[in-house]
Amino acid sequence: MSTARLLDGTAVAGQIREELRPRIGAFVAATGRPPGLGIVLVGDDPASHVYVRNKIRSGMDVGFAVDLQHLPATSALADVLAVVRRLNRSATHDGILVQSPLPAAMGDDAERTVFDAIDPAKDVDGFSPVNVGLLVQKRARLAACTPAGIMELIDRSGLPVSGQHAVVIGRSDIVGKPMALMLLHRDATVTICHSRTRDLPAVARSADILVAAIGRAGFVTREFVKPGATVIDVGMNRVDDEATARRLFPAGSPRLDQLAKKGSVLVGDVHPEVADIAGALTPVPGGVGPLTIALLMRNTLAAAEARHAG
Ligand code: NAP
Repeated sequence: MSTARLLDGTAVAGQIREELRPRIGAFVAATGRPPGLGIVLVGDDPASHVYVRNKIRSGMDVGFAVDLQHLPATSALADVLAVVRRLNRSATHDGILVQSPLPAAMGDDAERTVFDAIDPAKDVDGFSPVNVGLLVQKRARLAACTPAGIMELIDRSGLPVSGQHAVVIGRSDIVGKPMALMLLHRDATVTICHSRTRDLPAVARSADILVAAIGRAGFVTREFVKPGATVIDVGMNRVDDEATARRLFPAGSPRLDQLAKKGSVLVGDVHPEVADIAGALTPVPGGVGPLTIALLMRNTLAAAEARHAG
């Protein structure tokens, strides 16, 4: 039986967006223009198109000027860099984000080269080495949106962090590493796990706060979870085969109907059975995803305010 408290990311994201509105009004009154967000999208990756569409919609909804620069998949790295440099110089673009992944044909280092080229003052994803360094030193200005959103959700849900053992599964630059740093800065005792970690279920089971940022549908099963733990599911995995879906969802689940109707379902890294043992759990969808976008809006406004003040 599902006993975990579900942490409503959609509601908290809505709260955060509402808190931005008066600040956005004050910015417009002071500058005569809305905060501006430039989004660079290269190619035709369907998932990227969905993410970008959501970011545009959310930005317009809070009253930003959102400018989409869509480049063809055949673009050269130099074309992307030229757009980024133009946005760096623009007086009306306060935030810049380049949607990843870039087309594979651009090469392994393309993403890093592009992120390095974004003006750190406009780097609203928090991926530039300057912003990562500031985060490491606990003086972040623009920090990665997904882990920052998770901290908001934990805090606003009244869940303790200080002194807790936090286990983060995943060590990516965009989620795992900044997540571990943010928890550490809030006085959690942090363990970072990855694909070479020995006896992962036992390590995970020692967590009071368990963050799963792996990219494998339903990977974290009940043997990974201490009864009563807070479980944060970052995973966004599209499952389109029925056998996998049936391993995750019981017969009669509306998620199986959804698969039949739509051809796929969005599944986290945490198996739904964890709801029977966790104390608190983020759902997928409706957990971490909406927070990432809300924090992107907050970072864009913060970048706009800092540029105007500076
Ligand atoms: P990533 O760069 O692929 O990193 C995945 C991490 O998981 C790596 O550190 C990897 O270990 C680890 N891992 C993979 N298989 C493992 C295993 N069997 N056991 C233990 N660790 C394992 O992924 P990411 O960008 O961090 O994203 C992770 C997930 O979060 C994806 O599903 C992504 O779609 C989702 N995501 C969601 C949001 C949101 O807004 N909700 C935002 C960003 C990402 P190694 O380092 O050893 O390879």
